[in-house]
Amino acid sequence: MLPKIAFIGTGGTIASIGADQFDLLDYNASGERVDASALIERTGIQGKFADIIPVDIRQIDSTALTSNDWWKLAETCLRIMEDPDVAGIVIGHGTASLEETAWALSLVLDAKKPVILTGSMRPLTGISTDAHANLASAVRVASNPGLAGVFVVINDEIHSPRLVTKTHTLRLGAFQSPWVGPIGYIDGPDVRLMRCKENPPPIFAHSLLRDLPRVDISYSYIGADGVGIRAYVAAGARGIVSAGFGPGMTTPAESSAVLEAIAGGVVVVQSSRTHSGLVVDSAQNRISGIIAGSDIGPVKARILLALCLARGDRQEEIERQFKTL
Ligand code: ASP
Repeated sequence: MLPKIAFIGTGGTIASIGADQFDLLDYNASGERVDASALIERTGIQGKFADIIPVDIRQIDSTALTSNDWWKLAETCLRIMEDPDVAGIVIGHGTASLEETAWALSLVLDAKKPVILTGSMRPLTGISTDAHANLASAVRVASNPGLAGVFVVINDEIHSPRLVTKTHTLRLGAFQSPWVGPIGYIDGPDVRLMRCKENPPPIFAHSLLRDLPRVDISYSYIGADGVGIRAYVAAGARGIVSAGFGPGMTTPAESSAVLEAIAGGVVVVQSSRTHSGLVVDSAQNRISGIIAGSDIGPVKARILLALCLARGDRQEEIERQFKTL
């Protein structure tokens, strides 16, 4: 009997219809996206190596998603996972924010089955589209008994949500886990997990996603004067993630704005705009009350900080969370 896999469609390029097969860049202009059933039908994957159950949430560009959509996705995954006949879940997603959704879900789903996010860099109708191959790989990984947790499957690779990131605007091999690499590979029917996911992330109640406090990201550059940080605080930010220079540093003017924010009760996490490597818990950070963001990049640090604040964690608990991840 074929494994039963739920396919949740959320839109994105993998579900997008271009003007013709040569339309690889401007397909968003039509705004046409197919739903989960049509996507399964058009790829011809149904019944090949899995019995696929289409589930629709929204057919949108992933830049339009909200944390409420994450809540809905988590809720849907939890409901589907209760069905003992379902072996795993595949989520079709836009690649623009795929790493954020994967990370958010990994923080709230105590998944006992595989939950696989995939997308494509070329529209479903585009020449040499990766939509079919990525969907097939994702279904193969989701069918793997003994695998549990949230993973990103794209371009024949399996990645952990923690470190995977989109590194190119257009190329097929855009998704990478810089410096650490993928955790597994897919070659046709052959699924290989070379190493386990990093430390399992903490699990937050998924209901927290419904009402996340405002947390913003401030990006450092030569001449940054802290106006952005002050504006975020004035807009009601309860947390700021600083995407600082290399090791996790800000300009002197930003540092003053950060200290003001902390004095006003805002929690500040220092991350880095390099998107890989550790931001250490330096003496300077500790004295200033800045939380070191570990190796969590700015967009993912933002989600973790927002969940901590939504749960009511205090500074020390948030610090511990970032340290022990
Ligand atoms: N615009 C797309 C999105 O929904 C990009 C993609 O899927 O590749 O994120």
